[in-house]
Amino acid sequence: MAYLRSIDHPHHSTVQDRCFYCGGFISYPAIHRVGTTGSITLHSNCAVDLSIKIMADVNHMQNDTNRRIRM
Ligand SMILES: [Zn+2]
Repeated sequence: MAYLRSIDHPHHSTVQDRCFYCGGFISYPAIHRVGTTGSITLHSNCAVDLSIKIMADVNHMQNDTNRRIRM
């Protein structure tokens, strides 16, 4: 699940009490992602900030390796 309402919380045992990005207590709505090795829960603003940083990392990697990442 990507978008989490407070009513969803009891049904998702992987939801974290604190934000993966800033460490603050989670408020709702929140963003939640489950991967193969764990899960992350984030404030929506923190999800935006982290997404921008991840995209910047990919951009730097593309520039450093002269390889374009294709999806
Ligand atoms: Zn946060």
